[in-house]
Amino acid sequence: MDFFFVEYRDPLFGLIVLAALVFIMASSHYVWRIFANKDQKSKLDRFVKKFEINSTHQQILKNANLSIENLNFLAQIFTKSGEFEKAVGIYLIALKKTNEPSQKEFIFFSLAQVYLKAGFLERSVEALLNALKIKARNKESLKLLKIVYLKLKDFNKVLEVLECLFELGENIYTEKALIKALKIQSSPKDEKEKIKEILALSKDNEYILRLCFLYYKDKITQMPKFENVIDLLNECKTPLNLEDEKYQEFFYAKNLSYKSIVIKNQKLKILKILNDNKINANLSFTYVCNNCKNQNHLFFYYCPFCHEFGTCEIYYEVKV
Ligand SMILES: [Zn+2]
Repeated sequence: MDFFFVEYRDPLFGLIVLAALVFIMASSHYVWRIFANKDQKSKLDRFVKKFEINSTHQQILKNANLSIENLNFLAQIFTKSGEFEKAVGIYLIALKKTNEPSQKEFIFFSLAQVYLKAGFLERSVEALLNALKIKARNKESLKLLKIVYLKLKDFNKVLEVLECLFELGENIYTEKALIKALKIQSSPKDEKEKIKEILALSKDNEYILRLCFLYYKDKITQMPKFENVIDLLNECKTPLNLEDEKYQEFFYAKNLSYKSIVIKNQKLKILKILNDNKINANLSFTYVCNNCKNQNHLFFYYCPFCHEFGTCEIYYEVKV
């Protein structure tokens, strides 16, 4: 060890040793970078080759002197117009053109979105895993990965991603319980066992309570809030949960409960008047995401547009 302590030797000799050490370290780092880049490049080539579709348009774009921003912009236009194959082709060209990690990450994420829209779920997973290799703590990539795993019905993977999001400070409590309930529901377990386990998870969890209301209405021990199941109640032919004032108003307005009460809900009051006057009226529903404000014609746990969890609000109107 004394060899490294330069003060015990000729100072010039010490400096030469130090310079030699720095040189060795710098050259080994350089060699390592060359191999690392080579490995990364070959992995990227393999990814691109796997999904590349050759066309004359692509050859033109490959040769054109377009910036990454221009290519991304072009790909986004094709994505919006539903021409997913073209969008994928352009993203793959962009991927090969850039060496910037943040640009690569963005392209992998965009590719995953296109693959998801086009229904290529496994490819979407692969693109997202590549994006996460560049930046593991990216909430957007993790959230999208969760959606793709959910579409693949791989509930264990969804739970794993939720744990990562929890580590990043996301509140996953109710969502995790719902995923567990969905996992139980899709399992090959005995029906009685399934119901028991799902009901055990449902306490004060409106999402699971809605699920229970939909599938196990006669076994349910806690009723969901009226606002969260009004669309499901509209399908009921017999009144239920009349101890709840809102449920009671609803079934009275539908002329399914006959105990005379004063209806406070204005829309239900109109429904009652129309029904009493033999005008065939009913309720129509729209499902709006309170995050992105997009409308959907079906209820959703995850918004089909922004993929946020638990943002569905049920709006209803009286229709004649
Ligand atoms: Zn949304």
